[in-house]
Amino acid sequence: MTNRLYYTDTYLRTFDATIVERADDGRRLYLDRSAFYPTSGGQPHDRGTLGGVDVIDVVDEEERVAHVLAAPYAGPDAVHGAIDWPRRWDFVQQHTGQHLLSGTFEALFDMPTVSVHFGDALSTLELRAPALSPAQLRRVEEHANALVAENRPVIVTFEDAEAVAARLRRPSMRTGTLRIVTIEGHDVSACGGTHVRATGEIGALLLRRVEKIRDNVRIEFVCGARAIRRARADYDALSGIAMRLSASVDEVAPLVQAQADEAKALASVNRKLTEEVAGHRARIQWEAATPGADGVRRLRGVDGMSSDELRAWAAACAALPATVAAGAVRSSRTIAAAVSADLHANAGALLKEALQRVGGRGGGSPRTAQGTVPEDGHVDVVLSAVLDAAYGPAAS
Ligand SMILES: [Zn+2]
Repeated sequence: MTNRLYYTDTYLRTFDATIVERADDGRRLYLDRSAFYPTSGGQPHDRGTLGGVDVIDVVDEEERVAHVLAAPYAGPDAVHGAIDWPRRWDFVQQHTGQHLLSGTFEALFDMPTVSVHFGDALSTLELRAPALSPAQLRRVEEHANALVAENRPVIVTFEDAEAVAARLRRPSMRTGTLRIVTIEGHDVSACGGTHVRATGEIGALLLRRVEKIRDNVRIEFVCGARAIRRARADYDALSGIAMRLSASVDEVAPLVQAQADEAKALASVNRKLTEEVAGHRARIQWEAATPGADGVRRLRGVDGMSSDELRAWAAACAALPATVAAGAVRSSRTIAAAVSADLHANAGALLKEALQRVGGRGGGSPRTAQGTVPEDGHVDVVLSAVLDAAYGPAAS
């Protein structure tokens, strides 16, 4: 049985212990006592060194704690252990912050925590709640940060499961003696994790994204140095946008909205103009074209059109009498074809067949169609196939 030193002292960074068993050729060590926290309760394991060798995993095996090393250890049984403290402290802040938050969601809105996750970049807690409004989120954040500022003691006690059951925020399945973590006057939880000794050490607490997961709500949160780093990154990103807009950070949101509205309006104007230009272009080509023996005018699209222009041009050509048209955007090997309504021909079927012969793909309606070809050399092959086909005039 490993004596878990972190149970009674979260702040123990180094310790001396005796190896009681070596497994996996010295890559897996069992000690009589250890300050290494094993992965459990959603909190990741500690890293650090044992006898100078890197500890890459720490596994909770109920009675014992297994220390998995990066390389075999062949030294004496008496070993010195050192915890990677910045990593541990980071998780201590996130973990205690989670107790504080879960207690706050419960106290203010009766929303129980159903699961928690502590990641390397951000942590989440899932609440049993149908929804969480932005106003509720702000209230919880303010309340939790006020409790941080009050620097309330966080106390660890060992109590009998039955005696403590009624005071627990969340029922425990365990029996016998429980390790109880109490944030004075706020939250009582059964927990085997590592915690700060007073709420002030959690530092700033920031709630971020809220996501609906089935019948629950998942909330991202960051505490302590992470919250400061996150806020710094947010500010840097926001001020970068503000600088490009020649505005202050507070002006960014309304400015971006105004620009988005303007872009939408301009896109609509642009669409109308593109259609108008395409109509004129098609009409000029049509007037200059000499009808074939079958009475059909064959229009070839000019190079340099964008795909929007090509599509609009094809639609305009389809609206002209006795006309067949085909054009391309060579850079993207996109081809459009059009056939007037008064001709006995189907643009979609025609283009599809011509495309398939060269391994291209596409199709469309009887009047207009579009597709792409795999090679530059196929563009003219397909254009010719469409334009050189025989078209009979419509009976009407
Ligand atoms: Zn805990």
